[in-house]
Amino acid sequence: MVNLRIPGPTPCPDDILEAVAGQMINHRGPEFQDMIFRITEGLKRVYETKNDVFILTGSGTGAMEAAIVNVLSPGDHVLSLSIGVFGDRFAQIAEAYGASVTRMSAPQGEAIDLGDFRKALVDNPSVKAVIVTHNETSTGVTNDIGGICDIAKEFDKLTVVDAVSSLSSLPFHTDIWGCDVAVSGSQKGWNVPPGLSFVSVSDRAWDAFSSATMPRFYWDFGRAKSYLERGQTPWTPAISIFYGLDVSLGKMFDEGLENIYSRHLRIAGQTRDGIKEMGLELLANELTASNTVTAVKSPEGLDVKNLVKRMQSDHNVVLAGGQGSLDGKIFRIGHMGYVKDQDIDEVLGSLGQLLPNLGFQQKEIAAKG
Ligand SMILES: *Cc1c(COP(=O)(O)O)cnc(C)c1O
Repeated sequence: MVNLRIPGPTPCPDDILEAVAGQMINHRGPEFQDMIFRITEGLKRVYETKNDVFILTGSGTGAMEAAIVNVLSPGDHVLSLSIGVFGDRFAQIAEAYGASVTRMSAPQGEAIDLGDFRKALVDNPSVKAVIVTHNETSTGVTNDIGGICDIAKEFDKLTVVDAVSSLSSLPFHTDIWGCDVAVSGSQKGWNVPPGLSFVSVSDRAWDAFSSATMPRFYWDFGRAKSYLERGQTPWTPAISIFYGLDVSLGKMFDEGLENIYSRHLRIAGQTRDGIKEMGLELLANELTASNTVTAVKSPEGLDVKNLVKRMQSDHNVVLAGGQGSLDGKIFRIGHMGYVKDQDIDEVLGSLGQLLPNLGFQQKEIAAKG
């Protein structure tokens, strides 16, 4: 059995795979209506929100684009808080639609510093919205979204949050934090295949929507809202993924959200401890390290692409390499969604066997580190 340990798509349990194989139904009929109402309620429970939540057919990036085009106008000043590839992508989308983006970042492997963020808002009074990644999948770092939203509210700024690789795996308190728009994607912690993404829209975001003039059609929240009132989506939805999500949400509530979050916390700790014991180094500052993905620095002289290749060919463990500037410098272990302690035991065991074969003795590495 392949141990798929990339940060999405993640493995799906068998009963979910069976569910997604179901026969098609009329997406304008009563069965779909029941299902979308039930799933939307379930999503609101996970989001911890009374806001509108829409299910979009498209990947997480599509939902990020939807978030931007529904609340902003060309020329709007946006503050981008980016700590990696996905934060940069959010800024690029905003720019592609004509926003004027001011970028703030953090040293690689670190989260956004709240003091620096506050200063950026003081220095940029014309900012309308803050766009930020909750869990930066490229570096394995989690931002303090609660803290960021608090400060943003103080300055009366909209918060648009990419929670693609966190929501459902890490605690996310949409209403308590006052997060205006939050997006997630089905193939990350939700235990279902790629194809759907989700977005929550606060009253404040609806106010922004009413005057936002970025071009939009497929992603229009207004259309999504009026169709959802009838238990439909504006366009043909990925019905199969709805089937899977329906089963998955039921399983998630059976396990309990708190239990899911503590499982992720425990397994992330197991991953980081195992990596350090091997003498390898984490990319992320451990204080803000992600509980859904761990980035590991490549030891000097090791060909990390070969490591990833050999983990798959020799051990059936599929890891992810680095993205962007981290290509060839790190590898990443995904531990979100349907993940058990044993999956990580296997990863660590296989790494322990493979590293010496690639010329790295654990002790030597430890002595260097
Ligand atoms: C996976 C991911 C996305 C979106 O990716 P898609 O491939 O478009 O689904 C966006 N942000 C983060 C943080 C992610 O991990």
